[in-house]
Amino acid sequence: MRSARTLAVLGLLLVGPSLAAPPSPADPRAALRKRAEGDTPLRADTFDLCDRIGGRITGTLAVDQAVDWAVAKLESLGVDWVKTESYPVPFLWVPGTAEVTATAPDTFSLRAVAAPGTASTGGAIEARVVDVGEGEAADWARVGASASGAIALVHTQEMKTFEDLFAEYMRAGPLMRAAAQAQVKGLVIQSTRPRGLLYQHPMVFGRTPSAVPVALVAREPAERLAWLAARGEARVRIGIVNRIGPTYEARNVVAEIRGRETPDEFVVLGAHLDSWALGTGAEDNGVNVALVLDVARGFHELGLRPRRSVRFVLFTGEEQGMWGSAGYTDRHQAELDRHAGVVIFDVGSGRTRGFFVSGRPELRSVVARALSIYPGMGPSAQSLEGIDGTDNFDFLLSGVPNFVADQDPAPYLLDYHAESDVPDRVNYKEARRNAGLAATLVWGLANSPAPIPKRQTRTEVDALLVRTKLVEQMQGFEQWDDWKAGRRGFPAPP
Ligand SMILES: [Zn+2]
Repeated sequence: MRSARTLAVLGLLLVGPSLAAPPSPADPRAALRKRAEGDTPLRADTFDLCDRIGGRITGTLAVDQAVDWAVAKLESLGVDWVKTESYPVPFLWVPGTAEVTATAPDTFSLRAVAAPGTASTGGAIEARVVDVGEGEAADWARVGASASGAIALVHTQEMKTFEDLFAEYMRAGPLMRAAAQAQVKGLVIQSTRPRGLLYQHPMVFGRTPSAVPVALVAREPAERLAWLAARGEARVRIGIVNRIGPTYEARNVVAEIRGRETPDEFVVLGAHLDSWALGTGAEDNGVNVALVLDVARGFHELGLRPRRSVRFVLFTGEEQGMWGSAGYTDRHQAELDRHAGVVIFDVGSGRTRGFFVSGRPELRSVVARALSIYPGMGPSAQSLEGIDGTDNFDFLLSGVPNFVADQDPAPYLLDYHAESDVPDRVNYKEARRNAGLAATLVWGLANSPAPIPKRQTRTEVDALLVRTKLVEQMQGFEQWDDWKAGRRGFPAPP
């Protein structure tokens, strides 16, 4: 997941009194929950994916290996079928090498990574450093023409909350536009994490890479460089080699347990299989890949076949702009009226406090009914906050009921997209609890005798985007023009 402004607080505030009924022993949900919270292979699967294959950037051999791994896993779990489905990703971006060295007045290297979506330098480039503060409009105005031909150093605040992270994402677009306009040779951005920790996430979210090279550098040496630059001319050399290419096809993994009564109605349980690759993508999002596998395993082991079909979908291309889930909604356009709900997990092993129903109050009781065996999961635990930044989003734009797990982001935040996102950091007790919740919700949605919740129209989605303030986020993530033009979600009105 790449954002969610108030994830950190909303779930807690909205948890109401328990409306839970005691589970009957014959209730399959109780059996699913009990099994999921026991000694399942969830932990072993997380390690297997993350340690055997490692980081999984869409467009690389590693993500292909992960797709093949997931297909083999699902085939072994007794689902009715498994296949891969291809979809287009607008452009290829894979990091190669990134070197940043201060060359004057002293020589020292700064640990660095390239920022996804940004340009290579085409050989090493050296230039004087211009300090542009936090890269706000006033900072660029202050340095004026002196930025032209220089390498701009951008300061950051330490990231401590989800709101900080969200702000970091929302600053990226304006910063890149200002840098291009000022004609800098490149940007050196200070890491928002202390003690040398590096991470990698996009500076551009749209359909074309940036023409400006960007290196993210360790926080502490960046401060030294700024101190020197404030006292005379400082120079820096950057050399960045990324593999950048045109649009290409990537693959999602889709598996199904056919429904026993209305197999042409569907519930989707999804998580993204791809990751960035400084760490091994455990909290983001290997553990929830393992969760999806474990829910499929649970249905099979307990011999459960709900009324509707359940699809287990492992998306790729999420980190580049949720292109995998966009590809799914595109390919399955004709079935979307018959999607009863899409459930997404994408905040690592953080404790699930409810589900985001993204601006649709009528869905709160749908979730609460499905989760009635859990105390504290009544309608008021289901947040109305609109969620952009993970694989629910193109379903939301398509009017399909979508439910994103509202998880405690605190344990996941500091390792987010960082070198430290490894399977040892995962809380497997919470992950197993989450797997039980996922299984219960999916069963509840797929086995409910009630008609499936209504799919929204384009007009209703438009109103929802305004009501939930998702419009601003979509502009920040460069999705708004695609929505208006009908390239994502519903086709545009004539
Ligand atoms: Zn994620």
